[in-house]
Amino acid sequence: MCSNGSGGCGTTEDLMPEEVKLDLKEDKLCPRCNTNAGEVVLRSKDIYCKTCLLHYLNHKFRAALGKSKLMRPQDKALIAFSGSHSSMALLHLIHEGMQLSSHKRILFSVCAVYIDDGSVAKLSISERRKVNSGVQAAMSNFEHYFICIEQSLGPNNATLYSNAEELPLDKYSEDGELNKLFETVTTLSSRQYLLQTLRQNLLNQAAKKLNCTKIFTAETQTDLATKIIANIALGKGAHIPMDVGFSDDRTDDLITLRPLRDFSSKEVIYYNLFNDLAAIHVPSLATLADPLGSLQKAAESFVSDLQTNFPSTVSTVFRTADKLSLDLSTLDPAKSCALCKAPLDTRSDLASSSMGATKFSRLVSNATREELNAVQVTSSDDVTSQETVGLQSGLCYACQYVIKDMKSSQEGVGEEILRKTLEEESLSVMENQIKDFIL
Ligand SMILES: [Zn+2]
Ligand SMILES: [Zn+2]
Repeated sequence: MCSNGSGGCGTTEDLMPEEVKLDLKEDKLCPRCNTNAGEVVLRSKDIYCKTCLLHYLNHKFRAALGKSKLMRPQDKALIAFSGSHSSMALLHLIHEGMQLSSHKRILFSVCAVYIDDGSVAKLSISERRKVNSGVQAAMSNFEHYFICIEQSLGPNNATLYSNAEELPLDKYSEDGELNKLFETVTTLSSRQYLLQTLRQNLLNQAAKKLNCTKIFTAETQTDLATKIIANIALGKGAHIPMDVGFSDDRTDDLITLRPLRDFSSKEVIYYNLFNDLAAIHVPSLATLADPLGSLQKAAESFVSDLQTNFPSTVSTVFRTADKLSLDLSTLDPAKSCALCKAPLDTRSDLASSSMGATKFSRLVSNATREELNAVQVTSSDDVTSQETVGLQSGLCYACQYVIKDMKSSQEGVGEEILRKTLEEESLSVMENQIKDFIL
């Protein structure tokens, strides 16, 4: 039933009137200091001068870390640097926090890591060298390292390079095994999903090697609102609290934190503008793709439209998802997905599970009339008894879709590459777990 009380549903304008935006045409003073001229309007109504905005954002960043009580002075955090506006801001906020002389000073240590995935985006070696030298300059205030995304397929012992020029780009080029894997994946949605998951796994590997107990990502509220919508569309709704929460502890001994999750993309842009920081343009897998070319791109363009016309709605999407928690009755916390490491959400015995629904739908779509009649009298256990086999059985619902999106004509090349990687990874985890017991 429509709840607006007008006796019928209104148009979009009635339901979501465009927000009234304050502009700064008149010389308005910043109400925080009453001294400087206002330069920025946030949330369509709050005016800030440059000094007050920088003070507010620095305070917001340190308060988010302080409130979580997760960072200890002896911790070492790995900053996942991508060259984006938000990762430039993240490095600068940490650097500023370390320079303070008061008790608010950041005491934990950090190192920055950049993953070169230029071969997946088909960049030439000289383009990659140019990007990497810009990245190196941006990370120069911290201990920093480079890795190539191809190393996510190698043994669980990625080599980290402290100098961008040492990266063996010729070895990790377009015709390597990683591109063979990506070429077998037919949809851009699955290619983007696979790349993001391999990047996260490589960051975990690097963090362990560098003795880091935390990973910081630079995802803003706007990025996370996009991720929420995209992940629901990708069938990853069960893991939303892990994928967008402040902290994510799905990996043993390692916590991923998102300290910019209360920042909007507009706040980040102004932070960089006032600090003279320029983002590094790194072409990615989806840079030139159509805005509706993948589920992630469609979610991105939807949220970007909201950000322009209805900025508070982005925050509503984010806050609504923030109230969700993991439903442990439908997940299996003891078993994690071999690819994304989240608890498995593939219990097909539950009538309401996505897996059960998908299997039922597939069965009904492919069935003849006689088979359909038989299905109507069959219990849901029988309907969902066709268990997935092989590599897919160890993957969550969303990760299984990557395998399903691989070309069958390639005779399982992609699946084989992925299987080998995941087997090597789980062997190495096992070796690590038992090494203390081996004499
Ligand atoms: Zn001010
Ligand atoms: Zn998964």
